[in-house]
Amino acid sequence: MTQVFNPPVRTLMGPGPADVNPRILSALARPTIGHLDPEFVRMMDEVKRMLQSAFQTKNALTLPISAPGSAGMEACFVNLLEAGDKAIVCQNGVFGGRMKENVERCGATAIMVEDDWGKPVDPNKLEAALQANPDAKVVAFVHAETSTGVQSDAETLCRLAAAHDCLTIVDCVTSVGGTEVAIDRWGADAVYSGTQKCLSCVPGISPVSFSDKAVAAINARSTKVQSWFLDMGLVMGYWGENTKRAYHHTAPVNTLYSLHEALLILEEEGLENAWARHREHHTALVAGLEAMGLSMVVDADCRLPQLNVVSVPAGVDEAAVRATLLADYNLEIGAGLGPLAGKVWRIGLMGFACNKTNVLFCLGSLEQVLR
Ligand code: PLP
Repeated sequence: MTQVFNPPVRTLMGPGPADVNPRILSALARPTIGHLDPEFVRMMDEVKRMLQSAFQTKNALTLPISAPGSAGMEACFVNLLEAGDKAIVCQNGVFGGRMKENVERCGATAIMVEDDWGKPVDPNKLEAALQANPDAKVVAFVHAETSTGVQSDAETLCRLAAAHDCLTIVDCVTSVGGTEVAIDRWGADAVYSGTQKCLSCVPGISPVSFSDKAVAAINARSTKVQSWFLDMGLVMGYWGENTKRAYHHTAPVNTLYSLHEALLILEEEGLENAWARHREHHTALVAGLEAMGLSMVVDADCRLPQLNVVSVPAGVDEAAVRATLLADYNLEIGAGLGPLAGKVWRIGLMGFACNKTNVLFCLGSLEQVLR
């Protein structure tokens, strides 16, 4: 007989999803109301306003897409690119590779700017690619590469792209709430994020934001966006301002309650305080790991505090260590991906999970298992 599913209680310190704040979990259990109910619409307006503040933008087209981060990524590409366009994609990890796939599936050409996994995107290489490709329409890169624990200099990359008349698509899935995202100051044009990382919310929603320049480019398209669901022109009929809310799809009502709660918690803490907390616990974690003789993969000046990549010591079976941590300590940490597979662990300190107790618990458990 199939029984009720009762998940084990884990501590999630991998690349995401991260531990969900209990306040957010309880928001999910509030009564479901209609997605066109005036009370729900009022809550949607608050979600939009709080997302603008988390993204540090005044962009009117800022909203949560009812699907995970990958759908936010796809929304940016399918709306900004048409067949025959050219996009420069900076790749320094897994997610840059997924961007290339998106470009090609739009019928556009991807010009790749490659950096080593574990290094940030090199602005000089981007500048060279921009000079060699004056017809490029879009520059895309990942701000916080979850696969490698590296943060790239989004402001510099966006300014370079703008100087060459390119729109920018920036992946901020892992950065929002953990390190600074400043869409307006950067001059970024299309940004997407996820709920399951430093917002400590449940997975399945992707906040996105489009600049006025990006909206103008969408309006100037000569072909329809090939995805009906992700066509921002249609989504705006439901989420837009000063419009009569029109049915587009049935919004994930309770999940949006949870996003509202997550953004409220971030607002209560304050963006700067949240970033400072991530830095503080990251510093403690790194000190503890190094005291155990472990070494960090990423240079200190571009490390993501919310995603710590640690070299696996020679002779250690990395998968067995992770399996023991999960079985004996209910602690999840992440494996390496791509060229880093088998060589690193990825330890997340994201949102609610970024606290002193978790740092000490992770260090203590890892120390026991490695003994
Ligand atoms: N981009 C980055 C940097 C990510 O870390 C992830 C997920 O881990 C994604 C995109 C895709 O998000 P999702 O898994 O929610 O579709």
